[in-house]
Amino acid sequence: MEHSGIATVVKNAGSQYLLSALPEWNLIPAVLRGRIRLKGGVATNPVAVGDRVRYACEGEPTPAHPATITEVLPRKNYVIRRSTNLSRQAHVIAANVDAAFLIVSLYFPEIKLPFLDRLLVTCEVYGVPATLVLNKVDLYRDEAPEQMAAFRRIYESAGYRVIETSTVTGEGVETLRAACRSKVCLLSGESGVGKSSLIRALDPELDPKVGEISEVHLQGKHTTSLYEMYRTQDGAFLIDTPGLRGFGLVDLKKEEIALYFPEMLKASRECRFTPCTHTHEPGCAVKDAVGAGTISVERYNSYLGMLEEDTKFR
Ligand code: GDP
Ligand code: ZN
Repeated sequence: MEHSGIATVVKNAGSQYLLSALPEWNLIPAVLRGRIRLKGGVATNPVAVGDRVRYACEGEPTPAHPATITEVLPRKNYVIRRSTNLSRQAHVIAANVDAAFLIVSLYFPEIKLPFLDRLLVTCEVYGVPATLVLNKVDLYRDEAPEQMAAFRRIYESAGYRVIETSTVTGEGVETLRAACRSKVCLLSGESGVGKSSLIRALDPELDPKVGEISEVHLQGKHTTSLYEMYRTQDGAFLIDTPGLRGFGLVDLKKEEIALYFPEMLKASRECRFTPCTHTHEPGCAVKDAVGAGTISVERYNSYLGMLEEDTKFR
């Protein structure tokens, strides 16, 4: 009997894939045969974790007798990383991502807002809704309440949700769990922010440190098995990304950058000139909003930094 259907790629190692028809978790071994081409694909992996694929198999798929992936269905979105800044080769980290959770801490390691803003721009470019997770709040709820409040103010006024968590006190873990439920979630965070601890807090059965992939391996050409989807006990689908370097790099034209700062895009409708770089133009509504405090100085500075860097490379 022929088994066939549509399922989601949950793991890829070399030419081997595991599929599951989400939200079910019945793993189907599969392989890629023949050439599956992606439109304009420069990716090293034509099929990525999160891809919805059509598969077929004579009889029940088993590791010795896997199903064949016959088609990759159109993607709703995808996130790529380049091995280096200038590399043309890109690796698709994940496709069809419902939500990205960017995990940060105010210190240990210290937060770098321009870096975070760059990641948020990347999420906007890829069309992946981003949520900020401010972890280790046990360290600063009493010590640095103003910095905590400032962080919240900056990002909530930009339109992002901020979830405060602590894996020490358990604060916010339930909120994060609810935010992840039933979704394909990309978890990102600089090393040391507590990403692994949070994943364990979400589901003690998941141990992200086991089988962790070091950044070094990402340099290689034959990058396989980098990303894997895990299902938590309460039905969230998590994709853990090791480190962040390379994820924040998108090629944007100078005049495009502001389109991916949601609060600036909104304000810019009132700018006197179109296009407006929001730097020197008279009647710039973005600059007015920064002056009035409705757009944060920090976000505006990140924008200026990206503009300048962009100019530098061109
Ligand atoms: P990862 O590198 O992002 O995966 O971070 P880990 O989960 O390995 O955590 C890095 C360090 O931060 C470890 O020493 C953790 O014990 C600590 N840590 C993680 N979460 C918290 C938290 O909420 N509060 C505090 N105080 N420490 C935390
Ligand atoms: Zn303007």
